[in-house]
Amino acid sequence: MNLKINILFIEDDINTCSFVTAALSKNGYQVTSAHSAREGLSLAAANYPEIILLDLGLPDLDGCEVLRILRRWSDRPVIVISARETDSDKVQALDLGADDYITKPFSPAELMARIRACLRHTRTCTPDRFYQALGLRINLVSRTVSLDGELIHLTHVEYRLLALLAERSGCVLTYSYMMNTIWGPYTDDNNQILRVNMANIRRKIEKNPARPQYVFTEVGIGYRMRETEGR
Ligand code: CA
Repeated sequence: MNLKINILFIEDDINTCSFVTAALSKNGYQVTSAHSAREGLSLAAANYPEIILLDLGLPDLDGCEVLRILRRWSDRPVIVISARETDSDKVQALDLGADDYITKPFSPAELMARIRACLRHTRTCTPDRFYQALGLRINLVSRTVSLDGELIHLTHVEYRLLALLAERSGCVLTYSYMMNTIWGPYTDDNNQILRVNMANIRRKIEKNPARPQYVFTEVGIGYRMRETEGR
């Protein structure tokens, strides 16, 4: 499994949206676009984008408000793209948690360079590069999972869940923590979607899903992953 880097673009202007989307796709990124603040927030929670590009002038909510809400539960890098060019606009957005600020109009080359810089920064700040236990190996940089040397194909959500557990192997993660981290705060309290995904992961990585070696259920609490041997 090797996933393209997933970028969310929150922008109501159709022309800017299609120009940026085309430029990003051409450079090998996978882009999802949202045309309102509300749609953007729910996609930020659902898709777990690697980078969020955010316009400030949105129809339903100001972009600064979007930033404020996003920063309560997401640490994903945010690059603001806005026609507002005063120092105070930039200072406000950066203080609210934006990682970078680009003023319109801008060139695709500048946008790509800023995205690369943002990704470099995120990656050097992320610890724990590998998970390894028994025959299971997870490379948290290239996002590949292998079992006894064979690559395993996981869906985007399955990978996110497994990586979340692997990054804190040996610790119990509660259902609500996992639900919140992967699906965001707008999800309902029903754990069904989590259980279904965990069952699918077990079918793929456990020799006998009924007697797991890697992912253990802590009944009524959550899940715990076998401690990594790589520490
Ligand atoms: Ca706008």
